[in-house]
Amino acid sequence: MAEKLSYTELYRKLYQYYGPQEWWPSTSDFQMLISAILVQRTNWKNVELALTNLGEDIKAGELIQMEEAVLAEKIRPSGFYRMKAKKIKAWLHWFQKYSFHIKEVQKVDQAVLRKELLAIHGIGEETADAMMLYAFDKPGFIADNYAMRLFDRIGYCLPKTYHAFKTEVEKTFPHDLEMHQEFHALIVEHGKQYCKKTPLCENCPLVSVCRMGSEKTNALI
Ligand code: SF4
Repeated sequence: MAEKLSYTELYRKLYQYYGPQEWWPSTSDFQMLISAILVQRTNWKNVELALTNLGEDIKAGELIQMEEAVLAEKIRPSGFYRMKAKKIKAWLHWFQKYSFHIKEVQKVDQAVLRKELLAIHGIGEETADAMMLYAFDKPGFIADNYAMRLFDRIGYCLPKTYHAFKTEVEKTFPHDLEMHQEFHALIVEHGKQYCKKTPLCENCPLVSVCRMGSEKTNALI
């Protein structure tokens, strides 16, 4: 196997192969924020159904007025809907502090904002980081299952916990909003196309730089 790539080189390789992803796949920043909660423990198709029920132009002010039971019913396709309705309500109460203005939230210091988000009921690190990255313009690495699986298979020795993993990658990856947005989206895309639970190493664009890929291909020789 060739020398291990830096995270930036890995990013470039993925970008070269898949091209720009231009995430997050939602029609507005507010939809992005709601969908970051809806997508917990489900897939994007189910999120889309829930978003359609809410209506494309739904505003934070309307949503906060909506009865929690009504909200839960609308987001039922996303699964865990009662729990998610509670989380959305808690998050909206926090957002209200900023008069529902995304631009106001963007002015908050990154570390302070992360702490605030993590203090909200139902907002874990992955959800907070997704909101920060795709709506509040705060660059940071999302250490989700796709990233952990890919990085482990490639052969990077990284910590197993979310925060330590993220911190380690951020030490050397550029603190650049667009690069972080693309990196996360590219990792997810790669996880869907090749580095699935059962990986498709044979035709994978990373096979020459991946520990697992090399082991598998060597075993076939
Ligand atoms: S070579 Fe296999 S294990 Fe490595 S990144 Fe590609 S699909 Fe994943």
